[in-house]
Amino acid sequence: MDAGLKRELEAKVYAGERLTREDGIALYASDDLTWLGRLAHHRRTERNGDRVMFNVNRHLNLTNVCSASCAYCSFQRKPGEKDAYTMRIDEAVRKAKEMEDEQLTELHIVNGLHPTLPWRYYPKVLRELKAALPKVNLKAFTATEVQWFEKISGLSADAILDELMDAGLESLTGGGAEIFDWEVRQHIVDHACHWEDWSRIHRLAHAKGMKTPSTMLYGHIEEPRHRVDHVLRLRELQDETGGFQVFIPLRYQHDFVDSADGKVRNRIQARTTMASPAESLKTFAVSRLLFDNVPHVKCFWVMHGLSVAQLSLNFGVDDLDGSVVEYKITHDADSYGTPNTMHRDDLLHLIWDAGFRPVERNTRYETVREYDAAPSMAERRSEPQQVWA
Ligand code: SF4
Repeated sequence: MDAGLKRELEAKVYAGERLTREDGIALYASDDLTWLGRLAHHRRTERNGDRVMFNVNRHLNLTNVCSASCAYCSFQRKPGEKDAYTMRIDEAVRKAKEMEDEQLTELHIVNGLHPTLPWRYYPKVLRELKAALPKVNLKAFTATEVQWFEKISGLSADAILDELMDAGLESLTGGGAEIFDWEVRQHIVDHACHWEDWSRIHRLAHAKGMKTPSTMLYGHIEEPRHRVDHVLRLRELQDETGGFQVFIPLRYQHDFVDSADGKVRNRIQARTTMASPAESLKTFAVSRLLFDNVPHVKCFWVMHGLSVAQLSLNFGVDDLDGSVVEYKITHDADSYGTPNTMHRDDLLHLIWDAGFRPVERNTRYETVREYDAAPSMAERRSEPQQVWA
């Protein structure tokens, strides 16, 4: 990048000025990762100091049966396939209860678009989960699922959200966003929920007082300009509603290991690679700089590996997705050795070792507990060190 432009961008960031589409594209074109990290770290520190938030949650997928066949998805199964499953409500409750000892504060629930499950199933499952785990916040359903519920119930999203909130819904999840630009979206997304509906449903949720997350699936066939466009759409909606709590860049994953039937469902992996760690760090940094009105940027460590997760804290990230015990949507398989389970203590050490202060939060980003003092290095090294990917 031209030195003059670099100075200009740097001056804008330090003056707290809003960056433009062209600025975002220029930042992605820079090879100076350290410089990008420094700028993003400045913005992150201004907003969130040295805090790194995390929560203790469990991901629950009620069914992997889906009417859609998104090109990147290795999770969905068709009815009758060998490893297709749909949980009965009591099964879902039993699975959630297994985590009670972990002092779980949140259940994160996303599912396939099941062709025959009735709409009534969904509020009922929330009600029973809430009755079984009254202290646990329920973060459930993507905007895509809410649009699916409109289709199968004949109700409006307005009525659907009211009923789900009455049943205990605390927040929608941020999924279904992928990349909004149609140029890319038409090749990867098979469901019917695009920007118009995705934004309509989140806008409605925000109007009802709900705070929601926002996401972006990157590192497949999109270009940096599509990522910039994606973030700017969200930024504009955030100017209007203020309802997004967090932005989560999700790294597209190849489906390396064949599933039980030997099939590889991901249909774009022959056309693309996955984002490298450097590209991921750049994406975190540019996202933090561009999406200036979102409070938090999250790294979902399951998709990045723990080393990148730790480094991301110097590239704009201030939130780590918590103690995931089960996560399936894009993580059916992993050949990197990244665990798909972390517990509170593992996360604390990950954050302390990176030089930050861990803060446990709930779904609403309220502080559950602050952890000021890191144990001394000697104490931490008295046990053999865990090997992280
Ligand atoms: S991403 Fe979601 S909607 Fe698309 S095929 Fe997978 S489970 Fe279905």
